[in-house]
Amino acid sequence: MPQVLAFYSINEAAKPANQRVHHNNSACLPGRDIPQNEMRMGTGNYRLCEDCNRLNARTS
Ligand SMILES: [Zn+2]
Repeated sequence: MPQVLAFYSINEAAKPANQRVHHNNSACLPGRDIPQNEMRMGTGNYRLCEDCNRLNARTS
């Protein structure tokens, strides 16, 4: 699945710090749920989402 530039939701800031994540895979469902107007480029210094991590580990 395609890896893309890192992005995150502005709503992550409302979560507890240890639950904030960024995404970098276009197949990630939580990532795809982020409305365009709530999306920001970059990691936000958050850890990588576990779904993205799993998707990135696949080779095709
Ligand atoms: Zn993700």
